[in-house]
Amino acid sequence: MDQLKNHSTLPGSVRPLGFYVNGSMRDAGDRETLVREAPGYLVPVSEVTLCTTSDVDDAVAAARGAFESGAWSRCDAAVRATALLRVAAGIRERLDEIAYWETLETGKPITQARAEIGDAAGHYEYCAGAARMLHGETYNNQGDQMFGVVTRQPTGVVGLITPWNFPFIVLAERLPYILASGNSVVVKPSEMTSTTTLVLAEILAEAGIPDGVYNVVTGLGPVVGQAMSVHPDIDIISFTGSTATGAAVLQATTSNFKKASLELGGKNPQIVFADADLDAAADGVAFGLCFNAGQCCVSGSRLIVEDAIAERFTEMVKEKLARVKIGECLDPDTQLGAIVSKQHHEKILSYLELGTKEGAAVALGGGECEGLSGRYIAPTVLTDVQPNMRIAQEEIFGPVLTVTTFGDAEEALKIANDCQYGLAASIWTKDIDKALTLMRGVHAGRTWVNTTIAGGPGQPMGGFKQSGIGREGGMLGIEEYTEVKSAHIAIGQRTNWIA
Ligand code: NAD
Repeated sequence: MDQLKNHSTLPGSVRPLGFYVNGSMRDAGDRETLVREAPGYLVPVSEVTLCTTSDVDDAVAAARGAFESGAWSRCDAAVRATALLRVAAGIRERLDEIAYWETLETGKPITQARAEIGDAAGHYEYCAGAARMLHGETYNNQGDQMFGVVTRQPTGVVGLITPWNFPFIVLAERLPYILASGNSVVVKPSEMTSTTTLVLAEILAEAGIPDGVYNVVTGLGPVVGQAMSVHPDIDIISFTGSTATGAAVLQATTSNFKKASLELGGKNPQIVFADADLDAAADGVAFGLCFNAGQCCVSGSRLIVEDAIAERFTEMVKEKLARVKIGECLDPDTQLGAIVSKQHHEKILSYLELGTKEGAAVALGGGECEGLSGRYIAPTVLTDVQPNMRIAQEEIFGPVLTVTTFGDAEEALKIANDCQYGLAASIWTKDIDKALTLMRGVHAGRTWVNTTIAGGPGQPMGGFKQSGIGREGGMLGIEEYTEVKSAHIAIGQRTNWIA
């Protein structure tokens, strides 16, 4: 408790959260609630409403009503663009507050949260421009008597289910893209991290997004998320979360043949060649592992390093990791934050045990950090790892690096691709031929060369194999949420079928 006294910035009381339907915040009423403890401090900070399936029905009806009214779905793109720019400005104005709640509920370091909220605003700005650019195609090549037009129109009501690891930025990588073409949305944030999704409702309303276009239903996945996935009046589900839950969601969407966009798990390779800038690569590997305490879909958790430098490079990575600042999430110097929940903390520790049983050696870390007020796991390096071990195949979702070695580029690619996932990959080399060959060959929706976890709006993201279906971000991310319509328009007198 002594430590907590030093953190006068922790909230003085638990923040009660309602849910948001048709432009109004509703109280929990007699619904059950769940108290959320800050993972970095183990004190209660917020209380989330566990909505019911009938709340989902209300939210979907509001979204459908807003869509049919045309106030957003059929307005001039310039109106949407202006509103999205106002949303971005509203986010920037409230950046400190949003980052603070993001840090409290997720356990991520405050400086990282602040960067994410700023990046989130950038997505709304990008989509403001993209809204004006969205257009169809014409086919002026079908002879004198036919003209073809392809239009894109908003699909309708989108159900957006988001995870706990990046509540605000994952929302920002989807919501403005969904809104840009005129859809309405029902969002279900993770029950652990709902506050900032609700704060956004206020910002959207102030920016002039009409009532009913954005609705938030909080609560449990198997109740609220499941009700959304089977709902007959939701046209698309955009799900971001684990591969196991994604499979259940995909199955549920077949009830009315919804479109589904799934962004799922990853076990992402960091491929390091002997000719790389090894200091930069070691720093990148350390960052890619510790970012969000490894609770990141694109975390670079599999180091695949060339034999010739494996020992030296592993030492370099260990040296960097030993200097990572671990600590209080609200301290601006902290680089590695807390683990989101007790259950997840135990899961990571169980993987460390498994690693030892599978024959891996603990070269660094290997357990909890002592003397902190929350749940923290030390950056861990596991060596002597064979590519087929479970620790090298399954998503541990913590700051745990497995080290495997390769002899040549072909073997590196084989190890990288021999995995059920295909979300992201990083390649470190000064040889352009190797970089391009690996970039082309690796099974990953996102690749980085000589960097990792970088980039902003504009380029699409998504996964190969069991890392997902569809793409978010960029123009593709907007097009995902549109329906394409082909029109064939006859010119002049049609030739009669019946003479
Ligand atoms: P999760 O699958 O447990 O939960 C994600 C969301 O789904 C939550 O809102 C949850 O309440 C809801 N949910 C749970 N059961 C449901 C059900 N039966 N039907 C509908 N919804 C349900 O995932 P998580 O633990 O919150 O997040 C971590 C996972 O997310 C990791 O696997 C990570 O790789 C993945 N992730 C992927 C990306 C990406 O872009 N690919 C981004 C962030 C996180």
